[in-house]
Amino acid sequence: MSDNERGVLFVISSPSGAGKTTLCRRLMDDFPDLAFSVSFTTRPRRAQEVDGADYHFVDDQTFDEMVAAKAFAEWAPVHGNRYGTSRQTIDQNIEQGKDVVFDIDWQGGTRLKSMYPQDAVMVFVLPPSMDDLAQRLRTRGTDNAATVARRLAKAQDELTHYGEYDYLITNDNLDRAYEELRSIYIAVHCASRRRARRALQLLDQAREK
Ligand code: 5GP
Repeated sequence: MSDNERGVLFVISSPSGAGKTTLCRRLMDDFPDLAFSVSFTTRPRRAQEVDGADYHFVDDQTFDEMVAAKAFAEWAPVHGNRYGTSRQTIDQNIEQGKDVVFDIDWQGGTRLKSMYPQDAVMVFVLPPSMDDLAQRLRTRGTDNAATVARRLAKAQDELTHYGEYDYLITNDNLDRAYEELRSIYIAVHCASRRRARRALQLLDQAREK
């Protein structure tokens, strides 16, 4: 969406397996101008993942060097690996009025919100039930049993942070959940603060008459 002076930082978090990645992809397909913040991670690449598109996969030493060089707007340990958001991606896009989507956890989300309080919008995707989440993690087949157990424990921790988010979406039905996500994204751009310039232009025109 092009009417805003500064880009929106659209943070989408959820416990692993709640369907956040699918929802993000749909939003990106719907709004091709949206940029996706490709995080850096020390986690090994999964078979279907593409380096540079899903993540930038780096080793521990490279990650350490990037931390030292202050290349990350935020970084956090998640599930025993480290994940970081590129500061450059944010700064480049935000100044050009381009919106950016972040698929990051609550640690990263709250950090971005504190750094960019006027620009960050936080959405949390909830699973319909904890049984459903466990089932989705087991059937997606990307992780072994120990990893699934770790992700379920982390889900409980993540859920305690729901109050730090601006919006909550329950993903009990993908189409309905997506409709809510899309509506939030559109509504954010209609905020009077973001449309103030338009109203002021109209006032100028009215005064000139
Ligand atoms: P996964 O390994 O399943 O791709 O991601 C694990 C978790 O790390 C997810 O909750 C994901 O949102 C989060 N994550 C991905 N990139 C970042 C990042 O740059 N910063 C933070 N704080 N979390 C991230």
